[in-house]
Amino acid sequence: MCGIFGVSTPKKDQILEDVYLGLYALQHRGQESAGIAWIDDEAHLQIQKGMGLVHAALNQEKLAKEKTTCAIGHVRYVTAGKSSLINAQPLHASYSKGHVAIAHNGNITNAEGLKRDLESRGAIFQSATDTEVILHLMAHEQNLSPIDALIKSLSKLRGAFSIVALIEGSLVAARDPWGFRPLTIGKRDGIFYVASESCALDIVKASYVRDVRPGEIIIINEGNIKSLNIDTKATRRFRCSFEYVYLARPDSDIDGHSVYDVRLKLGQKLAKTCPCPQGELVLGMPDSGTIGALGYAFTSKLPFEMAIVRNRYVGRTFIQPTRRVRELGVQIKLNPIDNLIRDKKIVVVDDSIIRGTTSKIALRFLREAGAKEIHLRIASPPVKFPCIYGIDTPTSSDLAAAKMDVETLKKHIGADSLCFLDIEDLIGSIDLPEIELCTACFSGNYMEE
Ligand code: SF4
Repeated sequence: MCGIFGVSTPKKDQILEDVYLGLYALQHRGQESAGIAWIDDEAHLQIQKGMGLVHAALNQEKLAKEKTTCAIGHVRYVTAGKSSLINAQPLHASYSKGHVAIAHNGNITNAEGLKRDLESRGAIFQSATDTEVILHLMAHEQNLSPIDALIKSLSKLRGAFSIVALIEGSLVAARDPWGFRPLTIGKRDGIFYVASESCALDIVKASYVRDVRPGEIIIINEGNIKSLNIDTKATRRFRCSFEYVYLARPDSDIDGHSVYDVRLKLGQKLAKTCPCPQGELVLGMPDSGTIGALGYAFTSKLPFEMAIVRNRYVGRTFIQPTRRVRELGVQIKLNPIDNLIRDKKIVVVDDSIIRGTTSKIALRFLREAGAKEIHLRIASPPVKFPCIYGIDTPTSSDLAAAKMDVETLKKHIGADSLCFLDIEDLIGSIDLPEIELCTACFSGNYMEE
């Protein structure tokens, strides 16, 4: 999972700060590196990239002074290729038809095969990302304009790709024909924006226009927007259901559906299918379990408390230099408020269980804090299969729900009871037909290759 952002203005302007702010709003989608590419006064491509969080990777002051008509940005989460500056995006290339910069969210499932084929035809790859395949495919279409070369290249890809690109002075955005990853369009005072999530439009005060449709390519130049389609035989969609469960920010809308509303519904349905009559208090595992817990408490008519506090300054890049700090890991992030839970039968709502490690440690803290009974409720089905579409979930051998049945998992985690939402209720809460959604990590129903 990564975050992408693009902007196009009819008149040259200081819009790079908007890209910086947009990436800041998308920081939850990637913390390994950040980058921005833009066209300068002499129509040359400029790029600024760095490792770490947006504020550490990019020089806001310098960016704010630059003027341009279009720019793209990226925050990276590692799925293909290790965490290093050479793999940071946007990627750029200059070939016989001009300059191209591209930023990508998702995972191209046939990238390895395409890469081998391109290498056998002389291509030399610089990065270890699947994204670079797109640039090489374009360079091999010598008879086509860069935009047509991109359209043809995208039709050869399988899997998940939402992209923003700078080509021939235009901002180009595209979404794979299956619609795996979100991509949304906004507008403010004639300036067009494209972002992975609508929360990034809010920060630049852009109004929502619409989502990029699965299989659509849009070209934005001088205030005009043109829509084209990727040539595809796709017969159904695979919009990621896990975006609603965990990945996206709750203040985002995806394909017209509010992430907050979906999470609330997940909790409400969970209260109906996994009730806990003996429960005295509902609490959510912060932050992604909190909204589900609110829905659960509301429907089950139980009190809700923010009884676990999350330290917001502990990120993925948190360094664990000593054994003591490593062992404290989860407790540094999550700390229960003892007097709220002491001697109570509590219902803990979490969004999902992946390895089960965090749940196990968190439940131990709750027990130590005096909880009399702990009933764990999960607002999604068991995650039994790895994601191959851009989320770094472990292989099945590391997924707790793939290794253990619910009873064994309950004992392993240390809960008095454990219950998951079923897949029909997940689909019902998102309120899209099943053939519009990907549920592969829950169901094992991957897209046919
Ligand atoms: S496998 Fe799961 S996480 Fe991956 S795209 Fe499908 S629903 Fe989303």
